Amino acid sequence: MLQPVHVAHKSLADYTHLVGRDVIDEIRALAEPLKGLRVVHVSSTAFGGGVSELLYTLVPLMRDVGLECDWNVIYGQDEFFHATKQLHNALQGDPQDLSEDQWAIWHGYNEMNAEQLPGDIDICFVHDPQPAALMRLADDKARGWLWRCHIDLSSPNPATIERLLPFVRDYPHSVFHLRDYVPTGMRGQVHIVPPAIDPLTLKNMALSPDDAAFVCQQFGVDVDRPLLVQVSRFDPWKDPLGVIDAYRLAKESVPELQLALVGSMASDDPEGWEYFNATLSHADADDDVKILNNFNGVGAIEVNAFQAQADVVIQKSIREGFGLTVTEALWKGKPFIGGNAGGIPLQVRDGETGFLVDSPHSCGRRCVELLADPGLGRRLGRAGKEHARRNFLTPRYLRDYLRIFSAMADQA
Ligand code: UDP
Repeated sequence: MLQPVHVAHKSLADYTHLVGRDVIDEIRALAEPLKGLRVVHVSSTAFGGGVSELLYTLVPLMRDVGLECDWNVIYGQDEFFHATKQLHNALQGDPQDLSEDQWAIWHGYNEMNAEQLPGDIDICFVHDPQPAALMRLADDKARGWLWRCHIDLSSPNPATIERLLPFVRDYPHSVFHLRDYVPTGMRGQVHIVPPAIDPLTLKNMALSPDDAAFVCQQFGVDVDRPLLVQVSRFDPWKDPLGVIDAYRLAKESVPELQLALVGSMASDDPEGWEYFNATLSHADADDDVKILNNFNGVGAIEVNAFQAQADVVIQKSIREGFGLTVTEALWKGKPFIGGNAGGIPLQVRDGETGFLVDSPHSCGRRCVELLADPGLGRRLGRAGKEHARRNFLTPRYLRDYLRIFSAMADQA
């Protein structure tokens, strides 16, 4: 069954003084003629990863400005999520394409979900490749279709993208984080909209240093010693093993250094546990490396606390669609080091709002530099925060979608 996701109420007015009145006024003006528009978001999971993070904020705000907005999660079992995980990996460049069976499974579940999709939708907003076949299978159920791709399609497995393209190229509107991610052959109107974070969630609201320390202490962190933190799923593209290598290098110069790897296990990511275990064994029972996940009770407040407590936040991804964790760290004004990949350089200007690195070695060296010079970290952190405020907070994101909806309404 397609599952409706229940979201809390949010009010756009609460954001006014964090982002400035101009954006809020523009949103209200754009939303006025769209009141009552029936928008249905469809995604593959309500928990874990960036898409669900975005929708828990976007859906309530779309409602607050007058849209009739719902969010449904598609039905799938393990065989489907194994296939879609492979699809995700192959689209990010993994040389292994899906097997014929896996393609059939992907298509079969899309058929089941297409049947379940309610009719009479003004805009069906489909997220990512998992449910991407919906438009082809249920075209008549919505007057407008939009496909939002949240992943890095800049160098996909050629066989995989060729097989997927017939299902996505005819979406009249599609949205990507970066121009580089748009595959050749898209026939509709393509929009570039980077994502954003919600500054008013438990994860992003300011925690006092005392509270952050109190939380981290309960996970065994010695809050009087320096701490590196990476928050991300346990996934090879996020390179937690490279982070451990960088930490080891830095620890040669800063022996009291600690590392926390904080990662949630997403319900649509069956490989997560395997990689979690690989990370544990790479850490080799080092007491100063804490490896935590949501099953240890790490939720939004804890993620917030770890980011706030960190002396340096790292996101050493090798591939990264956008990297909400990067924005979260910048918004907290933290010294930040990121992999030079995907959406990270959009957020981090090397030497201005953080540092970009290409290897565990350079990551380790930058850690030592930032730990030795807190003034440098504060300067970069402050610039990073203002960059995030101007570009990567939810009201701007909502505004960009309302502009697209206006264009869609004009064309209807
Ligand atoms: N996240 C979390 N708990 C964790 C790990 C990640 O809440 O243990 C959140 C993280 O704070 C961020 C999102 O999941 O908001 C991950 O989004 P991102 O774009 O960084 O990566 P994705 O998982 O979508 O590839």
